[in-house]
Amino acid sequence: MMNPLSGLFEASEWEVDALCAQTDPDAFFPTSHQSGAPARRVCAACPVRAECLALAMELEGTVNQDLRHGIWGGTTPGERAALAARGLGRTPPGE
Ligand code: SF4
Repeated sequence: MMNPLSGLFEASEWEVDALCAQTDPDAFFPTSHQSGAPARRVCAACPVRAECLALAMELEGTVNQDLRHGIWGGTTPGERAALAARGLGRTPPGE
């Protein structure tokens, strides 16, 4: 199964460990009528969650929630917008 993040950025070494590569990529881009919960459960067990979230924050910058899409690093667009507003999320936890 293709990683839903593939093609969106230059491949990183950690991408090979992304659990979403083993699941339905559509689950990571739920429509307004779908839940992101299944994707978030996958992210919760993903060993590269911190790297993924850091990349999402870098790519999305400080745009608002409406311009963010998908579940990245276990977070929704709204959660990432909140992190950006607080100046958080660009550095993986523990670094
Ligand atoms: S944290 Fe989620 S979206 Fe990111 S690489 Fe892991 S499974 Fe994929």
